Amino acid sequence: IIEIQGLNKWYDKFHVLTDIDLKVSSGERIVICGPSGSGKSTLIRCINALEKVQQGRIVVDGIDLTAGAGNIDAVRQEVGMVFQQFNLFPHMTVLQNCMLAPMRSRKASKADAEALAMKYLTRVRIADQAHKYPSQLSGGQQQRVAIARALCMTPKIMLFDEPTSALDPEMVKEVLDTMIGLAEDGMTMLCVTHEMGFARSVADRVIFMADGKIIEQARPEEFFGNPQHEKTRAFLGQIL
Ligand code: ATP
Ligand code: MG
Repeated sequence: IIEIQGLNKWYDKFHVLTDIDLKVSSGERIVICGPSGSGKSTLIRCINALEKVQQGRIVVDGIDLTAGAGNIDAVRQEVGMVFQQFNLFPHMTVLQNCMLAPMRSRKASKADAEALAMKYLTRVRIADQAHKYPSQLSGGQQQRVAIARALCMTPKIMLFDEPTSALDPEMVKEVLDTMIGLAEDGMTMLCVTHEMGFARSVADRVIFMADGKIIEQARPEEFFGNPQHEKTRAFLGQIL
C-alpha cells in the first residue's frame, strides 16, 4: 500500500534522508526507531506529503505523491497522522475537533460527521468527554481524541510520530492500548516509537534508522534477539 523508491531529501545542503527504499503491505504494522535526528519524523512526514522530496518516488495506495500537487490532497485523505503534541484545536470541543475534517474535506453533513465522530470517540473510549475542550482533558485523553479525529477521515493508513513520548507514564498505556486495538482491527500502521514492548507485541517489522538511512529491518524477535548492525546494537543497548 506504500512504495518508496530511492527517496532522497535535503534541508538546504543537509542530506536528511539517503536512498530510502520501503514497501509496506496493506495491514502491515511497522515500528520505526533510531537515534534522535536520524530522520524518522522526516520520513513519516514525507509519506503524508508534509515534506517536499527532492529525489525518488513515493506511491501511496496507487497514488504517486511525487507526480503532482493534485495527488497530495488525495493521499492525505487516506493517511491519518498522530503527532507527539496532540495538535487539537483548543477553541473547539472534542466533538467539533473530530467533525471538522469530514465536513470540510469530505463534505459530510453535520449529522453524519457527528455520528462518525461519536463512533470513533466511543472506540477510543472517550465519548463521555465529547463536549469538553482539549484543555479540560488529560494528556492521554487528548491523544486518544487525536487518534479518533484522524480515524474520522476513515484513513487506510495511520502514521504515528512518538505518540506517547509527551505523556506522563501512567497515560502511556491507554494510548498504546488504543493503538493495539487499531492494529487488531487490521489498520496499516507506521509508528515511530521507542516503546519496545509495543514493538515486540504489535509490529510485523521493526525498522532501524540512523543518519538518514534505513540501517536494518527485521521481525521483532529477530530485531531484538539478534540485531545485525553495530549501530542497532548500540542503540538497543542504550534504550533497553
Ligand atoms: P527525534 O527522535 O529527535 O524526533 P528524528 O529521527 O525524528 O529525531 P528528524 O526530525 O526527522 O529526526 O530530523 C532529522 C534531521 O533533520 C535532524 O538533524 C534535524 O535537525 C534536521 N531537520 C529536521 N527538520 C528540519 C527543518 N525543517 N529544517 C532543517 N533541518 C531540519
Ligand atoms: Mg522525530
